[in-house]
Amino acid sequence: MLLEAFYHVPRDKWAYAYDKSTIHLRVRTKRDDVEQVYAMTGDKYDWNKTYQEFKLEKAAHDGMFDYWEVAVKPKFKRLSYAFKLTSGNEAIYMLDSGIQHHPPTPPGDLYEFPYIHEIDVIKVPEWAKQAVFYQIMPERFANGDPANDPKVTEPWGGTPKIDNYFGGDLQGVLDHLDDLTDLGINAIYFTPLFTSPSNHKYDTVDYKQVDPHFGDNALLKRLVEACHAKGIRVVLDAVFNHCSEGFPPFQDVMKHGEGSKYRDWFHINEFPVTIKNGMPSYDTFGFFGNMPKFNTANPEVKQYLLGVAEYWIKEINLDGWRLDVANEIDHHFWRDFRQIVKKANPEAYIIGEVWSDSLNWLLGDQFDSVMNYPFADKVLNFFNGGMDGYNFANEMGSLIMRYPQQTNEVVFNMLCSHDTPRLLTRVGNDKRKLKLCVVFLFTYIGTPCIFYGDEVGITGGADPDCRKCMIWDPNKQDRELYDFYKLMIALRKKHNALRQGRFRFLHAEHNDPCIVYERMDDKVHFTIWMNNMEKQRTLSHPMDTKDWYDALTGESVVPEKGMMNITLDPFGYRILFRKLK
Ligand code: CA
Repeated sequence: MLLEAFYHVPRDKWAYAYDKSTIHLRVRTKRDDVEQVYAMTGDKYDWNKTYQEFKLEKAAHDGMFDYWEVAVKPKFKRLSYAFKLTSGNEAIYMLDSGIQHHPPTPPGDLYEFPYIHEIDVIKVPEWAKQAVFYQIMPERFANGDPANDPKVTEPWGGTPKIDNYFGGDLQGVLDHLDDLTDLGINAIYFTPLFTSPSNHKYDTVDYKQVDPHFGDNALLKRLVEACHAKGIRVVLDAVFNHCSEGFPPFQDVMKHGEGSKYRDWFHINEFPVTIKNGMPSYDTFGFFGNMPKFNTANPEVKQYLLGVAEYWIKEINLDGWRLDVANEIDHHFWRDFRQIVKKANPEAYIIGEVWSDSLNWLLGDQFDSVMNYPFADKVLNFFNGGMDGYNFANEMGSLIMRYPQQTNEVVFNMLCSHDTPRLLTRVGNDKRKLKLCVVFLFTYIGTPCIFYGDEVGITGGADPDCRKCMIWDPNKQDRELYDFYKLMIALRKKHNALRQGRFRFLHAEHNDPCIVYERMDDKVHFTIWMNNMEKQRTLSHPMDTKDWYDALTGESVVPEKGMMNITLDPFGYRILFRKLK
């Protein structure tokens, strides 16, 4: 066994409370190196009487490591533990004091989870585990009120540019709620709604006013009420990293310079406030001079922005916030943000925009979730032929092992957004590949989100091309694709196994682009079969029970001599299930 590859620390994602009575432990070892891992556990105040040994399961792997996991329910909420790792006749012990060849002499030198404090358990909103999100960019979704259109509004369906308008608004969303209910989604994430000089509204001028091109505050309140009446939750975009240069306090700094009472609201590097050779004399979002960055450590700024967050939760019964450029704002701000938001609505869902490993924000004191862009990139790469099943399983395994389980259950999974090319475009306009991506999204762990219009076949390259107007003419919509999305959404909503069940690859091999994987809870067992290649393929896996059905057609599917053989069309898939009780 390669001792140098062994890893465990008694904190964060390696040892955490899943709920008020359960501790999850994880251990890392070199890939295919260790045969078995056991957790040697007990209560430090009565080790001998409480001693129990648990076998860990291999929960995931990446290219270099295996990850082992076990759930333990200590009787007295305290847990002292060590690990025994075996291969053949060899046994190695891992404990707090290091790695050794002889058994530990408890209770000394053990790892410790001192006590499960309910208040410290990472809690995520239950509803987010059941949610299927739909992302709406209001300017491009539907124009329900031509009276509020911007001065220069182009005909619906024209070419999106960085600065043009098509007149979409909140009335348009209200008018189409029945369409969303028909599709089956039960949560909406809106890109920003507040007063701003741009079409995307990521540069806010007035944080407490709905943009007049979208409607007004009363209409937003009515819209959220109507959504709630239909069982649809609503999450808004909080743009707290930066504002618009038109934001009154920044205007004051521009006008009064060092004498402005708002001078410390921003990161001004040099007065007067200018842009020289394209370089602002103040910190900004990227290098955009029209988006000055807030000094969120300033108590006045913090009070103002946290006031905004609380205001909308209370004013319209908002269900959560998506946090723009969340990783460029300080952790102290986000800790206070969570306190305020969860006090106003304990079930609020907080999703950060962070494009890479985000564990620092996901330990229960800041966000519930992050936008899972790494998921999108890996899934699209795989279904575009960029890697084999073996590497795909490694990549997904490394993603699962980034976070504690409760976080994985609500991580915000999407395949594209307003910031990336459209899904259909990313798969080379091949609907068969799109469907494999979507089946994967809806049968994987985490909260799925659809970008408006993907379900009717909207295409588009990078921003601004991905921000085309929604297609409402049924003759121009891809209704076959729509029905497919509807079916997948319904399937996910029906089965807890697809939301919270165990995920495991059953077939993911070198030089083979096809995969089989399973989801399973105590009621239902799913196996998902995917032919990710251009020719017909029969996939086989040993199965000893005969009670399998096609989840979409209900047809019985029987293995032969203990082997399930599934023949699939090029880029075809099949979802099988059986009831466990
Ligand atoms: Ca309008």
